[in-house]
Amino acid sequence: MRFKLKNTFIQELPADSIEENSRRQVYKACYSFVSPKTTENPELIHTSKEVLDLLGISEKEAKSKDFLNIFTGNQLIENAKPYAMCYGGHQFGNWAGQLGDGRAINLAEIENKGDIWALQLKGAGPTPYSRTADGLAVLRSSIREYLCSEAMHHLGVPTTRALSLALTGDNVLRDVLYNGNPAYEKGAIVCRISPSFLRFGNYEIFAAREEIATLQQLVDYTISNFFPELGKPSKKTYLKFFEIVADRTLDMIIHWQRVGFVHGVMNTDNLSILGLTIDYGPYGWLEGYDYNWTPNTTDRQHKRYRYGNQANIGLWNLLKLANALYPLIEETASLEAILENYKVTFEKKYHLMMKSKLGLFIDSENDKTLISDLENNLHLSETDMTLFFRSLSEISKNDSPKEAIKKISHAFYKPQDITASIEEKWLRWFQAYSLRLKEEPLQDTDRLKKMNLFNPKYVLRNYMAQLAIDAADKGDYTVLEELFELLKHPYSEQKQSEKWFAKRPEWARNKVGCSMLSCSS
Ligand code: AMP
Ligand code: MG
Repeated sequence: MRFKLKNTFIQELPADSIEENSRRQVYKACYSFVSPKTTENPELIHTSKEVLDLLGISEKEAKSKDFLNIFTGNQLIENAKPYAMCYGGHQFGNWAGQLGDGRAINLAEIENKGDIWALQLKGAGPTPYSRTADGLAVLRSSIREYLCSEAMHHLGVPTTRALSLALTGDNVLRDVLYNGNPAYEKGAIVCRISPSFLRFGNYEIFAAREEIATLQQLVDYTISNFFPELGKPSKKTYLKFFEIVADRTLDMIIHWQRVGFVHGVMNTDNLSILGLTIDYGPYGWLEGYDYNWTPNTTDRQHKRYRYGNQANIGLWNLLKLANALYPLIEETASLEAILENYKVTFEKKYHLMMKSKLGLFIDSENDKTLISDLENNLHLSETDMTLFFRSLSEISKNDSPKEAIKKISHAFYKPQDITASIEEKWLRWFQAYSLRLKEEPLQDTDRLKKMNLFNPKYVLRNYMAQLAIDAADKGDYTVLEELFELLKHPYSEQKQSEKWFAKRPEWARNKVGCSMLSCSS
């Protein structure tokens, strides 16, 4: 297997002068050279055909010993120098100091068909940034990252991608709920790819340490490699750069809201500078439509990263990034204007996104009220987000409110909860909705087709990922395989897979992994 190396990161940015792989603070450097840990008995579980294509790896090569060895840490890509990146971050609202790639190792950046991809192993052993942890990952969390990042791509949500999922053959000790019950789990490694894995925290660390020269080097590197259209570095360029990052972050979050994805740990070290969804940890998918829902039990008390708060947190994180870039820009008002604009743009884009989910494509006066009334109704009793919106497209302009309710009623988790007063509110809403639909020039069938491009039929519900994990733990990868294929076409009808277009089963309501997830991975 031959790769065309394009190692801009290590060529253009300062390295840690110490090459020893010991846990420590790393100063005035963007990364440390470190090799992956060799693995005991690696075994490849799955590869993404599409990502192989992106990288120019043939299917035959993907079955080779070289592939297995490279993507499980036992062999280096020829002439490559693997490294772990140095970053800091605000975790749950507080500055946490140096974090860094504690269990991620960049193997190389390669070029294929004009695109550059950084290849990164997650779970490949300790680095100088591992702090008190082991640098490893378990099968459970690796399956979750592998399946979800590819599923997000197919949903049209900006994301890092995943090339491969492998067992290491080593056992890894984890306390799943942090409640004093550690147990051994199977170790695994995902190889994920992205044009860059830079996060807000990469910039914050240098600002916090007042290493302004390195900060500037990193920002200039980012602009010249990933935003070349901005031209030569200057204060103006830095501002424009920040503005684009703000736009991309917002667009990503609007997509999350559209599909019902809750990231779970939106710390500034988990926000990509390219506006990609990154670091799939205790994320989850909304089942009941609920602004207050978070899958992350570590965040149960304050629910900082709940579904309804993701856009606010995006803004909070951008403020931290603005502070980090300030020494290069020194113009508070201009930075504030960009943050102010985020709020205004959010309102506009969110409104447009919700209109599309409702099949409302022309302008009309009362859409704001129609949308907020719907959001209120969806909170009246537990109502499945995916089922509701997908079924909404089946409603015809001429349906009576009663007929309309019938079409979406399978989205109600507990039909007995629909009291007369709740039903009344729904009847009123559907009355208003059907009147509004009559203003739309599209025929029902055309509107359905268009709406279905905004409302996925299949998402990786938390219990589905858990079923894949439970089977894989026993060496059975058929569910994983099935879900991987299913989620390649989330907007298409897949008649043979109708069983996945259903509410979360009751057994999954309070099960670990299905409704309760922690950062332990
Ligand atoms: P996260 O919130 O999972 O993205 O991780 C926060 C920080 O903890 C990052 O610096 C990670 O590299 C580090 N980290 C998480 N898990 C491990 C682990 N098992 N070993 C070493 N570092 C880890
Ligand atoms: Mg992270």
